[in-house]
Amino acid sequence: MSAYDFVIIGAGIIGAAVANELSQKRPGAKILLLDKASQAASQQTGRNSGVIHAGVYYPPGSYKATFCRQGLEETLSLCKQYQLPYEQCGKLLVATEDNELPAMEALFARCEQNALSPQMLTANRIRQMEPNIRAQGGFLVRQTGITDYKAVTNCLLQLAKARASVDIKFNHKVVQLVEQSDSVNVVASSPAGEKVYQGGFVINCAGIFSDTLIRSQGLACDFRMLPFRGEYYRLTEKYNQVASHL
Ligand SMILES: Cc1cc2nc3c(=O)[nH]c(=O)nc-3n(C[C@H](O)[C@H](O)[C@H](O)COP(=O)(O)OP(=O)(O)OC[C@H]3O[C@@H](n4cnc5c(N)ncnc54)[C@H](O)[C@@H]3O)c2cc1C
Repeated sequence: MSAYDFVIIGAGIIGAAVANELSQKRPGAKILLLDKASQAASQQTGRNSGVIHAGVYYPPGSYKATFCRQGLEETLSLCKQYQLPYEQCGKLLVATEDNELPAMEALFARCEQNALSPQMLTANRIRQMEPNIRAQGGFLVRQTGITDYKAVTNCLLQLAKARASVDIKFNHKVVQLVEQSDSVNVVASSPAGEKVYQGGFVINCAGIFSDTLIRSQGLACDFRMLPFRGEYYRLTEKYNQVASHL
């Protein structure tokens, strides 16, 4: 049985970010990252909308608002430093009807409270900027951007591997956790059969399966994932220029 200081379950952006953080804070540690898929970022992280959010909607002063701003800055800085694809295209929030203007103004005020320096726009200005959008009014949040989160995740994993002893094993589905007095045995099913890895600490980054994994071990879990199915479509290339802002 192989022994590790840390076993991370899940190679999405959270698992990769945890591995990267640990590689800096504990460079001497032995880290194992397990994922049931055949590559990193194959679930939510690699299938999301690629937006680097600026924190438009979050209550001012909340952790979400604070972390979102910090995440924006750190994501942009990582993209710049390692030549990852990104674009700070900005986000346009519009009221298409007059009765939406008060809600739009409330969002504008929230953006100001979140130190985003939004820019109020007239209907004419919006038409100039985005000829395909008809709006009564709107505003621009310049900070919002887009990136390729699969590339970001792979970059974080490479950085972690370069700094510390990090083993990454794909096609390893964690099926059982057995707690010992000073460690946890992590049982994973792989194409080569069942394997057991010992971890000083186990960090659960299994995304929407993180609560299932906890409950399946009979452990108490104070949160529950509520999945909603969504259908997303990619427009054909001829619509690529239909709008230039988010
Ligand atoms: C449709 C959609 C659009 C989104 N758009 C955005 C956006 O534009 N911007 C943004 O910032 N956020 C967006 N999000 C949210 C964002 O994608 C997620 O918050 C983020 O990807 C979560 O990362 P994660 O690492 O926790 O989960 P995941 O990326 O889902 O990774 C979890 C990993 O755990 C692995 N795993 C699960 N169970 C096991 C097991 N038993 N054993 C081993 N491995 C296991 C999975 O294979 C997976 O690789 C969006 C989400 C969705 C669904």
